[in-house]
Amino acid sequence: LPTVAIIGRPNVGKSTLFNRLVGKKLALVDDTPGVTRDRREGQGRLFDLEFTIVDTAGYEDEDPDTLPGRMRMQTEAAIAGAQVALFLIDGRVGVTPLDEEIARWLRGSATPVVLAVNKAEGKQGDNGILESYALGFGDPIAISGEHGEGMADLFQALLPHIDGGAFEVQDPEAPDAILKLAIVGRPNAGKSTLINKLLGENRLITGPEAGITRDSISIDWIWTDPDPKQGEPDEEGNIPPLLTERRVRLIDTAGMRKRAKVQDKLEKLSVADARHAIDFAEVVVLLLDATKGLEVQDLKIADHVIQEGRALIIAINKWDVAENASSLFNGIRGALEEGLSQLKGVPLIAVSAMTGKGLDPLLSAAFDAREAWNKRVPTGILNRWFEAAVAANPPPAPGGKRIKLRYMTQARNRPPTFVIFGNRTDELPASYARYLLNGIRRDLDFGAVPVRINFRSSK
Ligand code: GDP
Repeated sequence: LPTVAIIGRPNVGKSTLFNRLVGKKLALVDDTPGVTRDRREGQGRLFDLEFTIVDTAGYEDEDPDTLPGRMRMQTEAAIAGAQVALFLIDGRVGVTPLDEEIARWLRGSATPVVLAVNKAEGKQGDNGILESYALGFGDPIAISGEHGEGMADLFQALLPHIDGGAFEVQDPEAPDAILKLAIVGRPNAGKSTLINKLLGENRLITGPEAGITRDSISIDWIWTDPDPKQGEPDEEGNIPPLLTERRVRLIDTAGMRKRAKVQDKLEKLSVADARHAIDFAEVVVLLLDATKGLEVQDLKIADHVIQEGRALIIAINKWDVAENASSLFNGIRGALEEGLSQLKGVPLIAVSAMTGKGLDPLLSAAFDAREAWNKRVPTGILNRWFEAAVAANPPPAPGGKRIKLRYMTQARNRPPTFVIFGNRTDELPASYARYLLNGIRRDLDFGAVPVRINFRSSK
């Protein structure tokens, strides 16, 4: 098995992550004394990836004077045989001098490094995430070893280093990269019918057996875009070819429909089942039933998709039997926005899984959403927009003193996440943050992709 070494200073949460990845097999942990006294080894698993995991725990109680020296030896021993070093920092604490030192050792080694910012549940790790860019390992993965958050992102980051065969490795931001799409919704919304229609009318790249993992099934196929867009010319004026044959990986949860036959606890199951598919997806289609309208359960699923930072599209199915179509459509649009303010502007598409109506626009919207989700806005453009937005509607002045907002940058994409620097940003009302958020989505063409803003004060 390939080996992943967890590297990090004491207390960043290496053991917790180790235990999570090793799961029940904790008993297999190797505590052999000697050179490996400070190392633990176990069989790790992340979704369907299996690997040996090495944890450099054991020096948590060391004398601080000799700590760096001993750590260095342990770190070097651990990464020597590893395919990838999983470098952990504590998102709440931020980057410490010891973290910087470890980063230097890691940069000097040939082992590839995946940087993860731990304890990042909620927004708690935001500072650490920003600071961690300075370590020079590119985009950090925000995780919570304790709460299990960010595991799908961790999977994506580790995948190219520890598994070359089971999945295709590709640049996920390339426009021709396969679109990872999940279709979720309450039982009987028509998910199976939709999936069957899509797969029936399009060319499969792999059979339905190909992507089966323990908890989910994925099917790769090709959607032929009947109305392809012309790409933007690049710096040299070359216009990229029209993408007409577009690859899609449909992610489905194994057993979803089988379990849905169980009549009780249906409501609970549909959200739990959707979760797993959402983890693997870039874009999620939430399927509503035109004959049923919008229900609380639908909003719960939509909220979860946004919380997880996936791009969301809402499709109203069974449009072939919908009555009063236009008032139904507007009614659902209104109820969505009223139910969840983030759903303002979410693509809403009427479809019929039965007849196939609306399916091409649905796929087209899904690719657009992925593009926005991947997008990075240059800092110059961002700040031109930002200055205008702040000038048009200046932040409030609690206590007679105006809150200053200075500049803005995009910290990451997938989902787009922005940082705004200023002072006393903690006093900024939520309505002002919403004003900026809506402006970004509207003016910078993010559509309904969930956009995040973090504010940072200079003092
Ligand atoms: P799932 O539980 O979400 O997978 O739902 P199914 O795909 O099993 O569909 C539930 C029911 O809705 C079935 O009786 C389908 O025939 C019906 N159905 C699905 N899509 C459509 C549609 O576009 N139009 C109509 N009229 N019926 C549909």
